[in-house]
Amino acid sequence: MTTFEYAPALESRSIVTIDSEYGHFINGSFTKGKNHFPTLDPSSEEILSQIALGGADDVDAAVDAARIAYQSVWSKMSGRDRGKYLYRIARIMQERAREFAVLETLDNGKPIRESRDVDVPLAAAHFFYHAGWADKLDYAALGKAPHPHGVAGQIIPWNFPLLMLSWKIAPALAAGNTVVLKPAETTSLTALLFAQVCQQAELPAGVVNIVTGNGQTGATLVNHPGIDKIAFTGSTEVGKAIARAIAPTSIKATLELGGKAANIVFDDAPIDECVEGIVNGIFFNQGHVCCAGSRLLLQENIADEVLAKLKVRMAKIRVGNPLDKNTDLGAINSREQLNKIQELSTVGDAEGAERWSPECTLPGTGYWFPPTIFTGVTQAHRIAQEEIFGPVLSVLTFRTPAEAIEKANNTPYGLSAGVWSEKGSRILWASQKLKAGVIWANTFNKFDPASPFGGYKESGWGREGGRHGLTGYLKSADEGVKKGGENE
Ligand code: NAP
Ligand code: MG
Repeated sequence: MTTFEYAPALESRSIVTIDSEYGHFINGSFTKGKNHFPTLDPSSEEILSQIALGGADDVDAAVDAARIAYQSVWSKMSGRDRGKYLYRIARIMQERAREFAVLETLDNGKPIRESRDVDVPLAAAHFFYHAGWADKLDYAALGKAPHPHGVAGQIIPWNFPLLMLSWKIAPALAAGNTVVLKPAETTSLTALLFAQVCQQAELPAGVVNIVTGNGQTGATLVNHPGIDKIAFTGSTEVGKAIARAIAPTSIKATLELGGKAANIVFDDAPIDECVEGIVNGIFFNQGHVCCAGSRLLLQENIADEVLAKLKVRMAKIRVGNPLDKNTDLGAINSREQLNKIQELSTVGDAEGAERWSPECTLPGTGYWFPPTIFTGVTQAHRIAQEEIFGPVLSVLTFRTPAEAIEKANNTPYGLSAGVWSEKGSRILWASQKLKAGVIWANTFNKFDPASPFGGYKESGWGREGGRHGLTGYLKSADEGVKKGGENE
């Protein structure tokens, strides 16, 4: 049979203007940075720009600006007026959506199809959703006279740069806090474009401050005495360091950390749909997703059928230029992350699991890893326990539902899980037994600003999104500080 190749369908990069060098965004304007480091397009290794490396004096200036803005403007403003600013930001993000999408794809390596259809619309949706909350905080059982903490220090990772920014900034501002945010080292550009949106929306100076830099910059922010609240998304290792740093203080923290989600397929599942769900669960965003369905648990009697169909489907995944609208799997975000994926995959080989990838030609420059599955994985294998954070799926099997739950919960994490079955009763039974903050049934990786997101065990503290997420940014007069958390 004759098949036609897809013709290239490149999204133009002419819509974005990238400066050769950026400073920090402090007190409503851009500073001139002192030292800089490069940010790359990971698909080509082209240097896109030079980003300022934030030091202690930059963090000081940003925290001071946030404090003054909190005391003089933002804490005095009515919720209704704060909401107006958030609506304005959301609308500008929508107007500039293509610009954000192209810039995110360039700086991060993710396919334009995803930045355009997932990251940017969801980021704007977070601002719309939280804009609606700003004047209703007194009426939502958030405690007596709920009020903000003050200055929130926020640190985000590189996998969803703009989306993680909006998960952090939108609820903080809606609740009346001001913020100092540090983006990840490899992906600062959309945060700096967001700073321009704040200017365009005429957000009062100092309400949002962005200090770019490395892990040291993040640590300086965490340890700054002027911070009242920390919100962090990233690795469990850094999350633990933050928990230790704030232990002797009264600072409250929300920590969104790693995951090793089980995607469980029972033998009554709709197999074709479930194959799509498995692909979406692990290959969306190159598998750089904390809640990725990275452990596939197949009921033994259907394992061969599911794997055969999965391999046919994986052979259709198009890997290549992230700016091409046909691309399904883009570049790995950094050389460092690629090394980590390669290392853990080699460990999988050495432990006796069987590796399979479809034939695919990877581009010659940039950082790439093919869609990969490991079969014959056992619970003791490192690739069944550790987060690979790449397009690599570990496949295990089970015989009984009870065994599925036991294997699924046998992890230090507990962020998300998936259940595939045609029986509602089985889905509800499994959901009650799974120790995971988010459980999807007959679907995977669905996100909504109204839905709380967060983990059990080493996946973190507290929730982001929905009413639960707001509690992390509010104190109440009667109970002291309310912590957003799984017990609420
Ligand atoms: P990471 O190394 O922990 O980095 C996250 C952020 O923290 C970055 O901005 C990083 O700066 C900064 N940082 C590094 N060291 C720090 C320190 N000592 N003190 C304060 N800040 C510090 O994590 P990553 O490798 O970039 O991100 C991947 C991890 O994030 C994965 O484990 C993933 O599961 C997790 N994640 C979780 C969620 C969730 O919602 N639960 C969502 C997305 C990702 P630099 O970039 O400059 O190093
Ligand atoms: Mg970059």
